Amino acid sequence: MTKDQLPVEKNQLLQVTFEDLTHDGAAVAKIDNFPIFVQRGLPGERATIKVVKLKKNYGFGRLMETIEESQHRTEPPCPIFKECGGCQLQHLSYEGQLKHKQKHVRDVLERIGGITNAVVHPTLGMNEPWRYRNKAQVPFGEEEGGLVAGFYAERSHKIIDMESCMIQHEANDEVVQTVKTIAKKYGIRAYDDQKHKGTLRHVVVRYGKITKEIMVVLVTKGKELPNKKNIIEEIRSSIPNVKSIVQNINPKRTNVVFGDKTEVLWGEEVIYDFIGDIKFAISARSFYQVNPEQTKVLYDKALVYAKLTGKETVIDAYCGIGTISLFLAQKARHVYGVEIVPEAIADAKKNARLNHIENVNFAVGEAEKVMPWWYAQGIRPDVIVVDPPRKGCDEAFLETIVNMKPDRVVYVSCNPATLARDLKYLAEHGFEAKEIQPVDMFPHTTHVECVALIELK
Ligand code: SAH
Repeated sequence: MTKDQLPVEKNQLLQVTFEDLTHDGAAVAKIDNFPIFVQRGLPGERATIKVVKLKKNYGFGRLMETIEESQHRTEPPCPIFKECGGCQLQHLSYEGQLKHKQKHVRDVLERIGGITNAVVHPTLGMNEPWRYRNKAQVPFGEEEGGLVAGFYAERSHKIIDMESCMIQHEANDEVVQTVKTIAKKYGIRAYDDQKHKGTLRHVVVRYGKITKEIMVVLVTKGKELPNKKNIIEEIRSSIPNVKSIVQNINPKRTNVVFGDKTEVLWGEEVIYDFIGDIKFAISARSFYQVNPEQTKVLYDKALVYAKLTGKETVIDAYCGIGTISLFLAQKARHVYGVEIVPEAIADAKKNARLNHIENVNFAVGEAEKVMPWWYAQGIRPDVIVVDPPRKGCDEAFLETIVNMKPDRVVYVSCNPATLARDLKYLAEHGFEAKEIQPVDMFPHTTHVECVALIELK
């Protein structure tokens, strides 16, 4: 279709009824089957929209006015909801969010994976779905009034100052404000990503919700941090629970937060936290789930699906710092973990010792290479647990699962689309997806985590 054959024009005002909600939280209106995506609209609502952008097969609209509101619409409690973009679903009631996530998982599994027989359970949500994050990662910028720390304004490099984030633990909010005040006092310049100049790029705060320990990471462009000693002293005296102050150096022109070099400025290299009874050491750059309460819910479900009796050999692939592995090890004969990041495996080994867990082995490497090697060594797991990044599992990895013929696979996934793709492969090779449990790890955002039980037919 050329532009003048499209059923709508740019800047046109339209009255529409929204039909659906996409995976990124936009409502969909259809004009003669031509979809228009509108942020902050909700299914079932009638609204006036303005067409703001057109592509060949779809367009984008802006919500001008809702004429008939959805019963699930709610007033977003956060004053910066619209500008920030960190949350996409605050205008949808929490119950509505949980239902949307379940439906989204079911739709994707069917559309991409052809999976219709598996039970998709209602999403397990939080009783108190605010202030859940244990990690804050806040960029610095400058305004007329000096240093600011907050979030990027939509489609720009400008940082908007932020005092509080409602999905962030209060402790992290406080630490960010304190560090900002101290940095301001000592005239530290913010890094400017356009000019590639300045000093302070990000402050990253990690908080152990059970231990209350705090780690402060100052990410700087170079090694130099003027007034370093005073800054450390002031952070220590203003934040009583701080256990670790770390500098990470990121000299690159990139929007990746961390650089390769990390230096302890004061205190320990790690902070500790618990999930259930297990204690974990967490270093500045290791992956650690950001919502510890829901992590426990997720891992408990994974454990239920694994149906361990104490006799099993288990593989935990993409194991990070060994979180799931150590959970499984308490109920299995032996657990093998594999993970690509060497520091994470060092943490995993440390965590096993810390908890006096001996029936685990950890290997560094790509899961798709280590798995075939384990297979060649004669390792035949009864249960395989996988928790890959968003892109899902490599086919060589799935092929080895098929060769190993475990009784069960427990698949933890942060991306329903790649979960669906991988389940399809497994279904074509003798496995069957039985149950899928969505868990809400990230309330008010569109992200959804799932744990799936897959059995050998
Ligand atoms: N199971 C852990 C970590 C899950 S995140 C937990 O719950 O905390 C996914 C992990 O996969 C990350 O630690 C990442 O470093 C690792 N990873 C990414 N690609 C990998 C690969 N090809 N092989 C092994 N691990 C990989």
